[in-house]
Amino acid sequence: MIYADNAATTKMSEAAIRTMTKTMNEVWGNPSSLYSHGQRAKEILEQAREDVAGIIGAEPREIFFTSGGSEADNQAIRSAAALGKRQGKMHIISTAFEHHAVLHTLEALKKEGFEITLVDVHENGIVVPSEIEEAIRDDTCLVTVMFANNEIGTIQPIREIGAICRAKGVLFHTDAVQAIGHVPVNVKVDNIDLLSSSAHKFHGPKGVGFLYAKKGIRLTNLIEGGAQESGKRAGTENVPGIAAMAEALKEESSQMMQNAAHLTAMRDRLIAGLSEIPHSALNGDAVKRLPGNVNFCFEGIEGESLLLLLDDKGICASSGSACTSGSLDPSHVLLAIGRVHDVAHGSIRLSIGEDITEAEVDYIIKSVKEVVEYLRGFSPIWRDLMTGKKEFIL
Ligand SMILES: *Cc1c(COP(=O)(O)O)cnc(C)c1O
Repeated sequence: MIYADNAATTKMSEAAIRTMTKTMNEVWGNPSSLYSHGQRAKEILEQAREDVAGIIGAEPREIFFTSGGSEADNQAIRSAAALGKRQGKMHIISTAFEHHAVLHTLEALKKEGFEITLVDVHENGIVVPSEIEEAIRDDTCLVTVMFANNEIGTIQPIREIGAICRAKGVLFHTDAVQAIGHVPVNVKVDNIDLLSSSAHKFHGPKGVGFLYAKKGIRLTNLIEGGAQESGKRAGTENVPGIAAMAEALKEESSQMMQNAAHLTAMRDRLIAGLSEIPHSALNGDAVKRLPGNVNFCFEGIEGESLLLLLDDKGICASSGSACTSGSLDPSHVLLAIGRVHDVAHGSIRLSIGEDITEAEVDYIIKSVKEVVEYLRGFSPIWRDLMTGKKEFIL
């Protein structure tokens, strides 16, 4: 099997699994308990906090462990909104291609009276900082823009956006779930106030993540209860998961440059190969994108059929289109970069992992070429395009 869906989730690293099982076996006490067995769990928890903080340029007390990226996104945005509301600032700026954990939280806030402005992400899938600046108003309480997009992999000018927000006194949140462990992120250098991350996107376990909140920013509780996480996130901490997350992040960070170099070479080989398919197009900027992300549109086919046939060939990929509910709505990300419905439907995301080989990349290229040609063979849309009844867009 060739696993090319690392943007959906990653395999846990061996070191992370070892740390997790060791913690479960040996240090299973409650970190809030005062006897030494509990305090050992507390030490593991605080060591993980220190490790995670160090890697992103934060202080340990600025790290709050959560159940993952979605929770961190919800808490970051809800916190900034609550702070804004108290000052009568109820305007939030974001983009149309954020993860649903952000977009749905913003929709909920809209129902509570907030006004949301979504800035353009343009054809290349990249926000223009000056357009954020122009959108900022006196009543803007938050700008939230993702670090790297989870479908098309485009990397945003976070440092510039952060600098603008700092200058204007507006809080800046970034969903960095796809970036952490893969590209350099430093909350100080990048002018970030709030940041979300999730362990299972960097070879850690599922169901654990963290929220970075710059000191002085008062968080709103999503979960009420005990005084864990400085009273900002109740519930007994997932100590084994948190320890494994820190282990995975240390490992990924130490190998980041080598991994990125290899992935970029493999990514560009994949892009070059798939570009040979007629009436196809890469989605998102070719350069300013995650080292492991490839996202293509092929005219005249359905992404879902493509995926199923690739699965038969042992390749795990994902389509940007159609959510699991079986709805046929194309990806909101592809629509945001201006792809029309028909074209957006024929999309595929290949998010490759660090251990991919050149031979595997070549096998993917060969397989996608075969499957696209096969599907076009009996696609009514393709026939219309070939007979001139419909015009090619790509
Ligand atoms: C995966 C992902 C999330 C959600 O993280 P979970 O830990 O699965 O809740 C949020 N944002 C982005 C960009 C993601 O890729």
